[in-house]
Amino acid sequence: MMRWILVYFHLILTDECNLCCSYCRAKAFEETAGREDPTVLQTEIDPTLPPDLDFDLNLLYNFLKKDPTSTLTFYGGEPLMRADLINTIMQEAPVHRFMLQTNGILLDHLASQIINRFSTILVSLDGHEALTDANRGAGTYRNVIENIKRIRQNGYTRELIARMTVTESTDIVDAVHWLSDNPDYSFSSIHWQLDANFADDFSHRQFADWVNESYNPGIIRLVTDWVDHMENEGEVQRWYPFLDPMEDLLCGRQSLLRCGSGHANYSIMTDGHIAPCPVMIGMSQYYVGHIKDADPLDLAVIAVNGECADCQIRGFCGGRCLYSNITKPWGVAERRVVCSTVENLHAGLTDVLPRVKDLIDEGVIHLADFSHEKFNGCEIIP
Ligand code: SF4
Ligand code: SF4
Repeated sequence: MMRWILVYFHLILTDECNLCCSYCRAKAFEETAGREDPTVLQTEIDPTLPPDLDFDLNLLYNFLKKDPTSTLTFYGGEPLMRADLINTIMQEAPVHRFMLQTNGILLDHLASQIINRFSTILVSLDGHEALTDANRGAGTYRNVIENIKRIRQNGYTRELIARMTVTESTDIVDAVHWLSDNPDYSFSSIHWQLDANFADDFSHRQFADWVNESYNPGIIRLVTDWVDHMENEGEVQRWYPFLDPMEDLLCGRQSLLRCGSGHANYSIMTDGHIAPCPVMIGMSQYYVGHIKDADPLDLAVIAVNGECADCQIRGFCGGRCLYSNITKPWGVAERRVVCSTVENLHAGLTDVLPRVKDLIDEGVIHLADFSHEKFNGCEIIP
């Protein structure tokens, strides 16, 4: 397995967010900090990290200039809280491609000529209106859908990915189909991620039962629906947890960590330090350098270790999540449940592989239909 040759950067513009979602990433830090389990790695968080980007932008530009193919993804908090910075950086930075990962509420704060330059925009929605609003706040769904329709009307033609967070409240079949076949706006690109950073709340949650009874069977059903759609419509829907691994299965490739963190995808903190993953905010122990003097094409590779090292499906999974591998938010039982979702995904995609190959052989679909931008903010393995 080769290191990916293109490098992607998330730029953290601010820690601020204008929503208060029920599954905030800060939960993981709080819960991990409270654990007494000695197997849990105690991760220090740099308390001096500024809440907003606080370095000379020329440092950033000089850093990015050393990589002629650099891709920059604006990230937060909510990056559109700093639409001013996005405007400035997109006018000045020597960057090949820009992407945006947003909750979608403030998409109207950027002019169309800026929006239309993004090669990819990821917006957070969890499924139908009631589910999204229960997780993300009343009125969120409608606000985001209206903004999406507006940017499409104003000329944004490139990839728009619905990014779902999936919890015990989610019927995965219903949620994915809702976003794919939506009466308001249909997404061709969908990604979902499990809310699985339970450290001390696993025993209070119904996560294991939900995985066994709803999520895992739902994934098998969705895989079948995905291939049925290929057969009936001649279209490969861009459902990222299926799309990226299936392309590798078709090509006989194994994968490093599929989100790219620590080998192809790095994150620039608000003080200019470079972390392996956008969620590793302030985890200075794992920083790989600073934009003032690092070479973007020669950053240290941070590998996923531990239990993943001997896993039979490591080449399919890639190790799922470097952040979890380091912070160890799970005990043995929790880890088993999470890994069962990867095993189930692997089994589901492997089962339909001959059928997908037949559809390619028959010319109904083409291998190129699975081609996609790597490391675009989709973690791939939910
Ligand atoms: S399935 Fe689990 S143990 Fe195996 S590589 Fe993935 S995260 Fe690691
Ligand atoms: S899946 Fe990748 S990007 Fe997401 S938290 Fe884990 S290491 Fe970071």
